[in-house]
Amino acid sequence: MSAWLSRKVSSLNLQELNEFDGSQEQKQALKELGKEFEITTEKLRSIVKQFTFEMQKGLERHGAKVAMIPSFVTGKPTGMESGTYLAIDLGGTNLRVCKVDLLGNGKVEIQQQKYIVPEAMKTGEMRQLCDFIADSVDMFLTEIDTDSYSEALQLGFTFSFPVNLRTINRGNLMQWTKGYCCTGAIGKDPGLMLQDSFRRKNMKVNVAAIVNDTVGTLMAHAYRDPTTFMGIIFGTGTNAAYFEKMDNITKWEDDITSEEMVVNMEWGAFDEERRVLPMTIYDNRLDRESINPGTHIYEKMISGMYLGEIVRNMTLGLVDRQLLFDGKSSPEMNKKWSFETSHMSAIEIDTSSDLADTQYVLETVLGIPSTTLMDREMVKTLCRLVGIRAARLSAAGVAAVMTHCNLLPQDACTAAVDGSVFEFYPHFSHNMMKALKELFGEEVEQKIKFSQSHDGSGLGAAVIAMQVSKGN
Ligand code: ADP
Ligand code: MG
Repeated sequence: MSAWLSRKVSSLNLQELNEFDGSQEQKQALKELGKEFEITTEKLRSIVKQFTFEMQKGLERHGAKVAMIPSFVTGKPTGMESGTYLAIDLGGTNLRVCKVDLLGNGKVEIQQQKYIVPEAMKTGEMRQLCDFIADSVDMFLTEIDTDSYSEALQLGFTFSFPVNLRTINRGNLMQWTKGYCCTGAIGKDPGLMLQDSFRRKNMKVNVAAIVNDTVGTLMAHAYRDPTTFMGIIFGTGTNAAYFEKMDNITKWEDDITSEEMVVNMEWGAFDEERRVLPMTIYDNRLDRESINPGTHIYEKMISGMYLGEIVRNMTLGLVDRQLLFDGKSSPEMNKKWSFETSHMSAIEIDTSSDLADTQYVLETVLGIPSTTLMDREMVKTLCRLVGIRAARLSAAGVAAVMTHCNLLPQDACTAAVDGSVFEFYPHFSHNMMKALKELFGEEVEQKIKFSQSHDGSGLGAAVIAMQVSKGN
């Protein structure tokens, strides 16, 4: 394998491509792609600038692209809270049901069960989806034997789609994202619809809070670590939440006594006007073929649902130019969404001399008739281009929040992060930190810490349900 590929580099230097020993045409093609996918420091700066501008717009008025939704979550947890709460998390891929025992002293006990959301449920009727959720909760409660509870159980509903909240547990779904498009849901109240399903099934469960997963992640981490200022998701989709001063949320019209509130940014919708994001033809193709064309383009350049599809589009482009796989693809490779983002991780992590794992993904999983080492190296490079770009664009969002909150002069702070892309994509957090260093200098590494946070949507939603039921 060529030296430049075996290096555990965090960014792809375009000079490196000169060392690649493919044909002139292959070299040229990779160089062009490298250029298209490059996010220079200067470009990063312009993205951060536009990001802080859009954040400001969202705080000032309703209906902005980056919606900056007040979460109604005001109090910071102390870690001393106690009681038993339920939490559910409807992510992009799974439904998770949890029983959370807050024990005080920052201690918790969590019992949980995962249920796969059938594809048909994601695009069927919302009422059916809510019934499925209620049935799953019922099954869970039977399994863990909670018959002894005489009072209604308070539940935090982690519903990670843009909801315009009117109260902590009432609001309207603004739009679907992440491949969901149930009918009878847009403009309706997901909390009320789920409560109806519980009522129809005679279940004593009260939907106490509708929680965005970013807010849950933030609160769960804050329960244990008071330096937490931000919750971020890099999973099926991407989004973030942070503590904002009430005075800065100028669109807020009601009275409120607290000084701070968590704001759910809905940052996936950043730059829908396409002012700064460098979209390629591969991004445009993906966007056009997605369920929500024209929207959430930032999310589509960053998150797990989409990254593999960008690589698939790039790969097919090279096949069509006879620069890969001897010009042959396969039925599987030609299927939309067949190239999963987890394949990219497997390929990027593959440092074997013959790139055997990459060969396995391409030939066995995706059915390419045969691949040369050069083919595998080229595909690995495509993955790196897309993965590095995703991490750098993600860093731009974090940098915007840090800039907006003027965090750099302050003490060290922690961003709680959840999601499989952050957890499993090789070098993702390293690449984010590298971009932050380019923006803020080396010392930023001492200022901000990314902390992998698993129990956000469970513990976080339970902590919020607790705050609501105790009248915080
Ligand atoms: P959710 O968003 O439903 O809460 P996750 O955080 O697990 O769930 O994210 C799921 C997304 O992560 C999927 O889009 C999947 O493609 C992607 N993913 C799963 N495994 C990996 C991996 N090893 N590397 C990169 N991405 C992954
Ligand atoms: Mg999740």
